[in-house]
Amino acid sequence: MSGRPLFTPEIMKLHSKSVLVAVCCLLMAATADGQRRRTSYAPPKIEDLPRIPVDTIDTSDPDTKIVIYTNNTWSYYRPIMSRYNELPVYANHWDTTQIFAYKDIELKDLPSTIQLSLVNDAGEFHYPHKGMVRSKYGVRRRRNHNGVDVALTTGEPIYAAFDGKVRYSKFNLGGYGNLVIVRHKNGLETWYAHLSRRNVDENEYVKAGQVIGFGGSTGRSTGPHLHFECRYADQTFDPEFLIDFQTGVLKGETFALQKSFFNIHSRASELLLEDEDDFDLLDSDLQLLAEMGDSTAKVQLAQRETARKEAQERAKREAQQAVYHTVKSGDMLGTISRRYGVTIDQICRLNNISRSTILGLGKRLRVK
Ligand SMILES: [Zn+2]
Repeated sequence: MSGRPLFTPEIMKLHSKSVLVAVCCLLMAATADGQRRRTSYAPPKIEDLPRIPVDTIDTSDPDTKIVIYTNNTWSYYRPIMSRYNELPVYANHWDTTQIFAYKDIELKDLPSTIQLSLVNDAGEFHYPHKGMVRSKYGVRRRRNHNGVDVALTTGEPIYAAFDGKVRYSKFNLGGYGNLVIVRHKNGLETWYAHLSRRNVDENEYVKAGQVIGFGGSTGRSTGPHLHFECRYADQTFDPEFLIDFQTGVLKGETFALQKSFFNIHSRASELLLEDEDDFDLLDSDLQLLAEMGDSTAKVQLAQRETARKEAQERAKREAQQAVYHTVKSGDMLGTISRRYGVTIDQICRLNNISRSTILGLGKRLRVK
């Protein structure tokens, strides 16, 4: 039930590649006459080619087919999922322009418990990204973190957690960067932020396990990670209630979402308040991560140690070697440089001055 990718992009790519080759051959044949007369020939751009469906491919999911077009693009065809449109969850509060869609519903209006059927109502499950949670949900450093940060390498695929429909797919200026929001049939929304690239459009139906984008560090982010949120009627709760990100496992098939789980500051700001120094972990935290086998933490620790030693040595060397001269009447850069046996350029560099700088009396110049 979990962890099974429904699609194999490689196979799709193969199919679409062969279509492209066929289209190119046709176009080349059609323009062969003109080519003989002209001296230069520019191959047609993919976007200039007509987008006519040429083939339909079955997938492992009986509800989903892939349509291949003449211009080497493809799209999913899901006649069954299109009927989702009639569901109130996709008919009401559907806003593709802004991140919050339930502004007329307050936290106090929600029932005390919302029973969420995850794998039947929401669809099948696939982890969004499997990795270590670097930053947990909740309040930290007086700030409010509405999601979890999962470590990743830029370019790694990000998967839709459940079946659903894309409500928002944009570059968000509020700090989320490339953001995809998927609304599931049970009303739950999953948010995927800081993506290096988005792979789906608004109003598109997605299946659990479909690659909706690729991990990155866009927006307010100091290093590549997935910022992942779970929201119901705009209100956030801890995604780790549902998903074990380390193992990629869904914690239960159903979830009783309590009103008390919601963060009262869920909608306080449209800005993503990621701490700038989220990834500036303390040495002791890094040590802990390294002991848990995190190779990135080990490398970071070693780099910090080297940098610290180098800085200490540099400071010591400079303290031992530094020689200063106090400018007296009649002193010029030339006379000072000769007296200490150094170049004028060196004095300029050490004091951040130029050859034409007027030396004030009593000014302390570093000469070595
Ligand atoms: Zn975050």
